[in-house]
Amino acid sequence: MESADFIFIYLNDQQQKSILDRPPALSALQSFETFLLLTALGRHSQALTTLTAALESAAKSISGAGPEDRSNLAEATATLNSLIPSGYQVIFTDTLTNLRIKRNNLTHFGHSPKDDNESIRLSFGTALSLMNAWAKVKHDIDLFEVLHGGLGEILQRSVGLIQDPLNHALGEANLIRGVRHWIIHHTRDSFLSRWELSVLSSDEATIGTTVASGFDYREKALERLKQRDPNVTLTCPICSSTEAFVVEVDEESLFNGDGALSPIRGTCIYCDFRVPATTVKLISELCADQLTTELLRQIRLEYGVK
Ligand SMILES: [Zn+2]
Repeated sequence: MESADFIFIYLNDQQQKSILDRPPALSALQSFETFLLLTALGRHSQALTTLTAALESAAKSISGAGPEDRSNLAEATATLNSLIPSGYQVIFTDTLTNLRIKRNNLTHFGHSPKDDNESIRLSFGTALSLMNAWAKVKHDIDLFEVLHGGLGEILQRSVGLIQDPLNHALGEANLIRGVRHWIIHHTRDSFLSRWELSVLSSDEATIGTTVASGFDYREKALERLKQRDPNVTLTCPICSSTEAFVVEVDEESLFNGDGALSPIRGTCIYCDFRVPATTVKLISELCADQLTTELLRQIRLEYGVK
């Protein structure tokens, strides 16, 4: 069977067939990937216009429009919205009309840095929900499930943060740091030459045995970070390195808290993922599975608190 070329998406045979049967559907999924790449590079307005192009392709794949027919975002969003079964909850942070107006402003007039947070909110909070509803209903594809290597889960958690109005004051750009860092970290190999890759892999293989190896460098970084007390070292939610993501925790919550660890900031010594104090909620979200009451109990024991 002919197969489609994706960057982050993995489809089973049935899903592949379903997408390949309708060329605009393939374009829709690939534009969604391009949206992710532009997001990683910080081009949030262009990312939004690319995601709306994905919606137009998705609508074309079901409307029967031909290659010569012009796309119309208002019609496309209405077509896709009508697919959502009644009783099926889809969250939109903004109305579909606002999505269209913003896309038109950006396409026909331009953008400034002020548009970044709004573009992110409309993309992640609204356009993505509509896109996912189409993929699920028409192709049995959950966009969060078909993104490989952990990206789907990070994206889904980031969407959850953006769809919670309580987080808007934090700035949408801050809430998608994990998504951006994951993409940059996991695509960097494509930009390295063969010798750079072999130096990297020999560094992994000769842990600590060569002079000034990456391992030694990371060990020193780990030591430095651990001086910020109290802290807890977790598996990095981005690169999955164990004992690598050092999270400073609030002293008050550790010693007198009500059973929850409050992160203050975090840094990964392996992939350099950094979460500043202003976006600490991101750590609680991305490391939710690790920040357990059992971990709190262990840390308290280590610090001699009962
Ligand atoms: Zn990492």
